[in-house]
Amino acid sequence: MSKFRIAFCRISQETNALSPLRTEVEDFRRTHFYQGEELLERCGRWGYEAPGLIRNAELSGFVRSVQKLGQGKIEAVPLFSAWTVPAGPLSAEAHRFFCERIVTDLTSAGDIDAVYMSFHGALRADDTVDPEADMLAAVRSVLGPDAPVAVSLDLHAHLTSEMMAHTGLFSAYRTNPHRDHAGTGYRSGALLIGQLLEKHHPTVAWRALPMVLGGGTTLDFMPTMRPIFRRMTQMEKDPRVLDVSLLMCQLWNDAPDLGWATLLLTDNDPALAEELAEELAELAWAVRHKLPPELPDASEAVALARAATWRRRLGTVCLSDASDMVGAGATGENTKLLRVLLDEAADMRCHVPIRDANLVAALWDQSIGDSFESAVGGTLDPDRNPPITISGVLLLKRAETLFGRSVLVQLGHVYLVVTEGPPLCMKPDFYTQFGLSTTAADITVVKSLFPFRLYFLAYNRLTLYARTGGITDFDVYRDFTFDGPTHPKDAVDCWRAGDHRRRIALA
Ligand SMILES: [Zn+2]
Repeated sequence: MSKFRIAFCRISQETNALSPLRTEVEDFRRTHFYQGEELLERCGRWGYEAPGLIRNAELSGFVRSVQKLGQGKIEAVPLFSAWTVPAGPLSAEAHRFFCERIVTDLTSAGDIDAVYMSFHGALRADDTVDPEADMLAAVRSVLGPDAPVAVSLDLHAHLTSEMMAHTGLFSAYRTNPHRDHAGTGYRSGALLIGQLLEKHHPTVAWRALPMVLGGGTTLDFMPTMRPIFRRMTQMEKDPRVLDVSLLMCQLWNDAPDLGWATLLLTDNDPALAEELAEELAELAWAVRHKLPPELPDASEAVALARAATWRRRLGTVCLSDASDMVGAGATGENTKLLRVLLDEAADMRCHVPIRDANLVAALWDQSIGDSFESAVGGTLDPDRNPPITISGVLLLKRAETLFGRSVLVQLGHVYLVVTEGPPLCMKPDFYTQFGLSTTAADITVVKSLFPFRLYFLAYNRLTLYARTGGITDFDVYRDFTFDGPTHPKDAVDCWRAGDHRRRIALA
């Protein structure tokens, strides 16, 4: 008997709609772009799926589901995997490239019985309102309307009725910070395999909530969200329930219908799916007034770090640059925080990242130990990050990093890593690759919202977030135009009108 063949593919980027930059295919190629047999090998047992990012992610989880649940009757067919760091919207050209690439790869893959796509779910593009829906349309154009298509999403995805028009088989992460990439790919695989082997018949229900903020910090293990994620796990213990997702969107997405969503998949039981999607919507709506904490400004954060004398001695203080989080699509050239650290933290050793391709180029021909004076920052978004003048000593140059060419310079008490590309600074090795010891720093600046808390766990004695005004602030939604009243921008008492608008009127 011939095997069922499931094609798998990833196109993943979390877009920040406010970024002045455009994301091109080249950005994916530079960061992560694999295809065919090499991709399959990387997703196998001994492979490294996304070097520099994560060993086992969604596609590895999917391949594992085929091995574990496929009973030798399923073949995983690799298409391609493209992933890049959060930044501005896809250019029209990049959007077109991926839609066409899906069609050509799927066509040349031969007979395909099902498709698994790994998306982030917050992609934006210049020439379309819903790029991920367009990519699903490209899948359908080859596969036809009936074959199953499963999609895994980040829980910060924006689920739209356009996406739902192509399939209902969505599964989102259930941890924040995200620790279940592979597990989520496994769930998508299980949905497809069960359907192909006729072990279940998925029925779907979802609800769309007119809220873009709530749930406190939204961390899955904190008191506000913990009971909700627990209830989801409990729902899934019922053998009639196949999958449960809560999508909390992210705030830097200017989609007019942006909002949270719940999604339930049951085994041939539409009424139960509706009932549980509704229950989960009520639970999420009930925590909408729990907003994220107010953040200190840079001077206040420096003072808080200074007061933590013993914690600095025993490790480091991680200072997240909340207004310029590269992990959320910012450019990474915040000069306002650097200015404050230079002026007000002279008694503390600081490790700081900044992006400035011009400065890297200017220092590249200099010798180690040379002194320099130069402008830094403001090469990409000078209005938000006006350049400042720095003087220091060149300590190290590195040609090959995930962020392009990079240099380490010392500005007195500040050790500044200057990168050509976006400085996705969330792991200790961002600094240790330049010989900087993590515990030597009093203040370690990171450009990430949550993930650094896991990676720096062994060294971090105090977490601080500083706000300096940028494109990853929590209140940028105030400048967006939504297609109806949306919490917390507007006072919204009941979620049903918003649900109807987004889920039914748009369908
Ligand atoms: Zn996320």
